Amino acid sequence: MDWRRRKQITNLVDGILECNVLNQPPILLIKDIMIRRGIIFEERDEDDEEFCGIYMVMGNTKIIFVNANLYEPRKNFTIAHELGHHFLGHVLSEGAIVCDKSAFDTKNKKRPEQEKEADYFSSCFLMPKNLMNKKMKEFEGSYSEQICMIPIEKEEYNDALVEYLCTFFQVSKEAMRIRLEIVNC
Ligand SMILES: [Zn+2]
Repeated sequence: MDWRRRKQITNLVDGILECNVLNQPPILLIKDIMIRRGIIFEERDEDDEEFCGIYMVMGNTKIIFVNANLYEPRKNFTIAHELGHHFLGHVLSEGAIVCDKSAFDTKNKKRPEQEKEADYFSSCFLMPKNLMNKKMKEFEGSYSEQICMIPIEKEEYNDALVEYLCTFFQVSKEAMRIRLEIVNC
């Protein structure tokens, strides 16, 4: 994925999130977006620990299932990832894209480009730059009020910031740290 593709995906996501006038955590918009796009969406109680999510098209019917047993931040990332396969028009294999744990494993060198794109979509969707900046400013304000004049370590500040952002955006710390590197550069 080169910078042009990243830019395209960012712009696409920004367009989708124009409806977020109340600056809600974007994960809360998912159900409405699924309805608007005519996607049947369901969290399924799957025993298979490897299974994360699937995007399927059967005739005119589009379906997204995710494993209900994933822990919340992981599940949220998977839901937005599957939505990414839909919006990015990714190529299906026998009518579906099945995403198991290996599809999300960033250390997996054989990971298809489509999986990387869907991850990038998910990251942009769940943690949009403008809203990230807004929440970071809010945090900065409240934090400096709280600690008054006590000097604090930068690391401590960053940990508290990540915690604050993860709680708002409902994502994992790992996903947040990756996103912060992109947003801050
Ligand atoms: Zn996938």
